[in-house]
Amino acid sequence: MAPPPASPFEVPAPTLPVRGSPGTRVPVRRVFCVGKNYAKHAAELGCDPEKEPPVFFLKDRECVVACPGGDGAAPTPVRYPAATEALHHEAELVLVVGRRAPEGARIPRDAAMGYVWGWAAGLDMTRRDLQDAARREAGPWDLSKTFDSAAPVSAVVPAAEWSPRPDAEVTCDVNGARRQRGTLGEMTWDVPAILHHLSAYVTLLPGDLVFTGTPEGVSAVRPGDVVTGAVEGLPPVAVLYTEGGAA
Ligand code: MN
Repeated sequence: MAPPPASPFEVPAPTLPVRGSPGTRVPVRRVFCVGKNYAKHAAELGCDPEKEPPVFFLKDRECVVACPGGDGAAPTPVRYPAATEALHHEAELVLVVGRRAPEGARIPRDAAMGYVWGWAAGLDMTRRDLQDAARREAGPWDLSKTFDSAAPVSAVVPAAEWSPRPDAEVTCDVNGARRQRGTLGEMTWDVPAILHHLSAYVTLLPGDLVFTGTPEGVSAVRPGDVVTGAVEGLPPVAVLYTEGGAA
């Protein structure tokens, strides 16, 4: 007798590899992101960083693409997404929450690092044309941020092996040419501040990812481009855009 058909509703979480632990994968629960966390990037989007604090938004976890990378690894191929003429790269430090936060209480800044299980490099890919249109109409810009393959992420490095130094560089290269460069010290909200503020809105849970914002220099990529995001001391995240999208 044939086995019963698999349910179409089995939805496993995407998982991320862990550097140095071949048998371990981190299941992704939710993907939170900080927008406008670097003043010069906020300014290049036409915002006034003096008047507008950073903001939170989310990406669907199905956006996550695990890019194991490593020395000499080929970039991970991903389809160029539909419905955009302006796919922008945003290279970012990503943290993985490893501990359930107290319900209904903010995480104190001085305890925040105890909630971080590990770190990765990520690309908060953005359909900037859709985002600009949504901003003009004062409408939601979810679909500029959440779409197929919108969140490539490197292997995760456990917190014991790396911590964010203010002078650590965040960079993004397209086809080997440098487009973005900043340092973690330029963040308006550092990691403890991010977790303190975010925990005012949601109870953070193990497997949650937080993209911490991008430095200046965002720009458009095209099919055929290789995009490499890096945070000094972490494995890089690299993708190759293949022809794709929808007519
Ligand atoms: Mn971003």
